[in-house]
Amino acid sequence: MGMIVLKGGTLIDGTGAEPVSGATIVVRDQRIEAVAKGPAGELPQDTEIIDIAGMTILPGLIDCHDHMAMHGYDLARRWGIDEPQSTRTLRTANVLEQTLAMGYTAVRDAAGLDAGFKRAIDEGLIAGPRLVVSLCIISPIGGIGDRVSPSGFTCCVPHDPLLPDGVVNGVADVRPVVRRVVRAGADVIKCATTGGASSRPEHGPRDGAFNLDEMQALTEEAHALDRRVMCHALGGRGLRIAIEAGVDSIEHGCYLDEEPELLDMMAERGIFFVPTFAVYDFHRKSPLPHVRERARHLQEHHVASLRRARVAGVKVAAGTDAGGHGHPKNALEIECLVKAGMTPLEALRAATGWAAECLGREHEFGTVEKGKLADVVVVDGDPLSDVTILQDPDRIPLVLKGGRIAADRLAKKPR
Ligand SMILES: [Zn+2]
Repeated sequence: MGMIVLKGGTLIDGTGAEPVSGATIVVRDQRIEAVAKGPAGELPQDTEIIDIAGMTILPGLIDCHDHMAMHGYDLARRWGIDEPQSTRTLRTANVLEQTLAMGYTAVRDAAGLDAGFKRAIDEGLIAGPRLVVSLCIISPIGGIGDRVSPSGFTCCVPHDPLLPDGVVNGVADVRPVVRRVVRAGADVIKCATTGGASSRPEHGPRDGAFNLDEMQALTEEAHALDRRVMCHALGGRGLRIAIEAGVDSIEHGCYLDEEPELLDMMAERGIFFVPTFAVYDFHRKSPLPHVRERARHLQEHHVASLRRARVAGVKVAAGTDAGGHGHPKNALEIECLVKAGMTPLEALRAATGWAAECLGREHEFGTVEKGKLADVVVVDGDPLSDVTILQDPDRIPLVLKGGRIAADRLAKKPR
């Protein structure tokens, strides 16, 4: 692969540090060999020097909550019975490719994507971000992972051995289910202790699922297998149970503001907050009245939860919860975080440095620092003055993943 030098751009390194202009980033093979505040010293003859003056360089972006293999909320889509599996697989591959081309070099999938996609990317069969997969949602009978139609039927969910059933039938069943999910290739355990905006009418955002003993068994087993636990929890009793049981991240967390002491516990225990604002903008326009009502009700709590989380010192990671609402640009969530009160620099950190920490991969990527994998995005313009440019493919001229060029639109630009 040799050496690539990116010179003259403004560096936002993902650590929360202020931008540095006129930076030089030296990439050798897969890694960042040097980051200099000015020009680089002597370089080998065959070095590829890319002048990015006037542009911004960021760490590869990270989405900590996505559903890459989901393509709509309606039942037939969710159950995968509306089109041939091969079509669906290729549809997902297409989303993975486009996501990488927009500068997202790592994605944590919050259920639906099987481990085969990760293998296909690692083998170079398709292009895509680095993946951290959870396969399915572990929840009790009646929880959000229990696939039952509104009329009570369970007949039509195809059995896919790569996406094990995540329904837990009591505390004795927790450990075997976690082990089966890990056996099928999960890098992280996804579970749910509350309903959500889009769950069935009787199972709303503050309705609980799981008891404390079940959740303790779940986190203990996951951690024994070196897997983190990402827990869907919006509010009420289930939210407290998740935090007390020691999950590693709270997904959604809309009603954290109602129990601020939970935020102090999160800060103390290093539990991340992944708010997923983008999905609720979609749910507020849902054709289903109960979904619309829930999404509207939680909105101001959600914003207050983010504000209090920042004050409490909880680390926030960006996640779109895309899939059900199609696949809008992942950087939409960065815009949502800014609208909800984060500074643009903080919001970028939530999608880079903090996101990598949330995944437990901060030693490998998430910041532009010597020794890290060269996952890097070049942005045409200043995302600190307008974060929405990250949603425009014409403003993402260059993406490197592990030192390899994953997208190159520089050639098309007038130089
Ligand atoms: Zn989700």
